[in-house]
Amino acid sequence: DALASQVAAGEVVERPAAVIRELVENSLDAGSTHITVEVQRGGTAMIRVVDDGCGMNREDALLSIERHATSKIRTKEDLAAILTFGFRGEALPSIASVTRFRIATREKEALSGTEVEINGGKLSAVKDYGGAAGTLIEARSLFFNVPARRKFLRTEATEYSHIEQQFIVHAMAHPEVTFTLIRDGSVAFHLPATKDALDRVRGLVGDQLASRLIKVEPTEHKGIRVWGYIGGPGLSRSNRQQQITFLNGRPIESSSINYGLREGFHTSLMKGQHPVTVLFIEMDAEGYDINVHPAKREVRFHDGFAVRDALAKAVSRALEAANK
Ligand code: ADP
Ligand code: MG
Repeated sequence: DALASQVAAGEVVERPAAVIRELVENSLDAGSTHITVEVQRGGTAMIRVVDDGCGMNREDALLSIERHATSKIRTKEDLAAILTFGFRGEALPSIASVTRFRIATREKEALSGTEVEINGGKLSAVKDYGGAAGTLIEARSLFFNVPARRKFLRTEATEYSHIEQQFIVHAMAHPEVTFTLIRDGSVAFHLPATKDALDRVRGLVGDQLASRLIKVEPTEHKGIRVWGYIGGPGLSRSNRQQQITFLNGRPIESSSINYGLREGFHTSLMKGQHPVTVLFIEMDAEGYDINVHPAKREVRFHDGFAVRDALAKAVSRALEAANK
């Protein structure tokens, strides 16, 4: 079973940023209002996510590291979602199988909490925990017991940039949550909760850059609503790192979206550039499928042309308005 977990871990835990994604999603699912992510050496030495969510009792904490133990299947719709997304209840056991792993958690009303330690998938300690309500999860020495996978990690700087990108995506999707990212002991981002998405963008990219962003007013095309912010000339990067798209609140990737952005920017002076973009797409969930691969959120739209057109229109309209 340890082997099975390590195999599953290869799917879920591709690199430190993937661990962060899973842990932060769990913290969000737990209803947290404050989430702090701390990493050392690009996450290879240590990843810690601390939240103030619902916490777990001892039984749940122990269950959470068993494979396929999810507390999230409650209805038939949940089950259907799991069949599409797959990999429910795999994240924690997978991560725990390839790290020195620790959960410290306490439910709000509980007098005492629980601390569980797992070493490369083997339970090594269960004790009382007197810390704050919520959950702290720590994963140290990623792949210490799977040298073959450790070799695939890139430099600490590269791994950190993926972590930062992952963090930014979550922070953008949830401005109502206070997010902090600490890198090797220094605060990289501290983003107080806000109701305004632009406030969050400002916190992420800085006031100066944010003041030059162009607002994409909500536009609708064939039932596909698009809104957000895009960079004007000079606010480009040489790659797509800074282009984030959310579909119904979830960060995703899709070729239709890439085509739509390219087309939208094509008509402007910014031809061939990949400007900073933060775009939100809202549409009926019947209109797309999400690839089951857990490392990516690749979406296939049933009407990819409509999505491409919706994005192209929204972007070119915003650029036109800004140039007036
Ligand atoms: P899933 O999220 O698919 O259910 P995970 O392996 O990510 O599976 O987590 C297993 C379970 O552990 C979750 O269903 C949840 O009950 C519990 N859990 C994990 N992280 C937290 C957290 N930060 N706060 C509260 N409960 C958590
Ligand atoms: Mg999860």
